[in-house]
Order: sequence, then structure tokens, then C-alpha cells
Amino acid sequence: MSELHKFIFDGLPVRGMLVRLTDSWREVLQRRAAANDAFPEPVRVLLGEMAAAGALMQSSIKFDGALVLQVYGDGPVKLAVVEVQSDLAFRVTAKVVGEVAPQAQVEAMLNVHGQGRCAITLDPKTRFPGQTPYQGVVSLHGDQREPLQKISEVLEHYMLQSEQLDTCLILAANDDTAAGLLIQRVPVEGVANLGRRNEDDIGLNEDYNRLAMLAATLTRDELLTLDADTLLRRLFWEESLRRFPPQTGEDGPRFACTCSRERVGRMLIGLGRPEVDDIIVEQSRVEIGCDFCGIKYHLDAVDVGELFTPTPQQAPGSAAIN
Ligand SMILES: [Zn+2]
Repeated sequence: MSELHKFIFDGLPVRGMLVRLTDSWREVLQRRAAANDAFPEPVRVLLGEMAAAGALMQSSIKFDGALVLQVYGDGPVKLAVVEVQSDLAFRVTAKVVGEVAPQAQVEAMLNVHGQGRCAITLDPKTRFPGQTPYQGVVSLHGDQREPLQKISEVLEHYMLQSEQLDTCLILAANDDTAAGLLIQRVPVEGVANLGRRNEDDIGLNEDYNRLAMLAATLTRDELLTLDADTLLRRLFWEESLRRFPPQTGEDGPRFACTCSRERVGRMLIGLGRPEVDDIIVEQSRVEIGCDFCGIKYHLDAVDVGELFTPTPQQAPGSAAIN
């Protein structure tokens, strides 16, 4: 079952998290395959790594709402999206146009002309009037303008720029498992994250540097195949690790889609009645598929008529005729 493990290093300003998406990740891929719309293998790896990263970032930021990772690409992958809710329910999708070369990495998929962007949006569950979601955007390049090849490097860059936090992120995915390990320097208690002192410390904490170096020795194969106990023991056997109860099942990362017939209805209302009527005339019904979960919503002429009729205040039959 999919699981998320949190731990701290006793007495050190460093924390860590390990996520393993197994059943939930396979469900995502199966739904896509069932809809006859499987992603090319490099895109599946990308989305798996983004899903693992999204769960780690959501748990690290502890944000009450949706954390959305979106990569806008200028190559064959136009868009890759992962949404993770505060209860760790997640969904992913991508828009692929054209051929994706086998073994393609971030640059070949998303940053062919150097225009790729990664946006991280925090969309609060309850918004004040006029409040817009917070969004941070980073390019897919490193500090020397070199194109980055791994999504983990892009997100480390983001965490450093926006959160002012040293973060080491190791990600891997195949068709069975999507997994990630995060090691992060803990913000100094009581000091604002964006405070100057914190900025001066970046990259200078010896404990963090040592632990991040240990984490970086983890191989892709180990991350994908080892259970959490074995993996953490193998990496940090000399450290004093304090672990918290794993989050799994209903408390853990799992696939869930937030689409609904009501949302589809609102979308069609936004489109306008003439447009929707045209579709009915041409195709006799409207079919809207969800890109995240593969469900198809169908509306016929009667459904559309109801959709554009204001909700009656009285039960049918009892309506007063004036
Ligand atoms: Zn859906």
C-alpha cells in the first residue's frame, strides 16, 4: 500500500520524508491504459516522479488546500500536472503532442527551446474574497543557465529560491512504484523563513550537507525496490533517526479525482448555451472526458436543457402558474 514516512535526526536541524506510491500509482496508469491513452514511458516516469515530489512537498509545506505542480513544456510534452490535496489524495495528467524519444529526460521532453517553466501553485481550500492562489515559477535551468535534466533538480531549485530551504530530493518511478526521498534543513524555530539569517546559512550547515550527501548515494533501484525500514537503515545506520508513524491507507497518499458532474455542468454553462446546443445538433450528445481519471461524462439534449434552466424553487407539479 502507498505510504509516507516522516523522520527527524535527533538533535540536528534536519528532517526527512520518504514516500512510496505503489497501488495508487498503478491505479493511475491502469486508468490511463484502460482509456486507451497510455503515456509514453518517459512521460510515465516524469509523472511518477512529480507525484512523489508533490506528496513530499505537500507534507513538508503542510498547506491546507491543493498543491499543484505544473510543468509547461515547449517540446513534445506540452504540460505535466500533479495535484496533491492536504490529505495526500493526488491525481496527475499530461498533454503530449508528437513523439517522445525513449529515455527522454526533462530537456528533450519539455525544454527543447529553453522556454519550459515549472509552476508551483498553492490553492487554499477556503479563499477570502478576491484572494488568488499563491504561485511560484522557475525555469528548467540551473544557476549557470544549463538545462536541467531531472525534475528533482528543478524542484530543489524552487525550494531554495522560494522557501529558502536547503532541500535534497531524490525521485524515481517505473510502472510499479513512484518513490521519493526528501532531506531538508529545518527552518530555525521562531525565525521567519525568508529572514536574512536563514539565507546566510544556505549550504553551510554541516549536518545537513553530510545527510544530503548520504541521501544522494541512494540508487534509483534501491529507492524503487527497498521497503522503508531497509532503505533508511542502509542510508542512515550511523545516525540517530527518530521516526513517526507511517501515513498509509486513508491517511496516506492515494489516488483520488476531484472531478464531478456538477463541475462539468459549470464548465458547460461557462461555454454558453449556443455552443453546447451546436454540439448536441452535431453529435446528439456532449461527451466530456476527465484527463485525470478517465471518467466520461455524457449529457444529452434533456440534460443540457435542465442545465440551462434555473433550478426551480418548488417541486415539479406544485409550481404555481401565473
Ligand atoms: Zn476525474
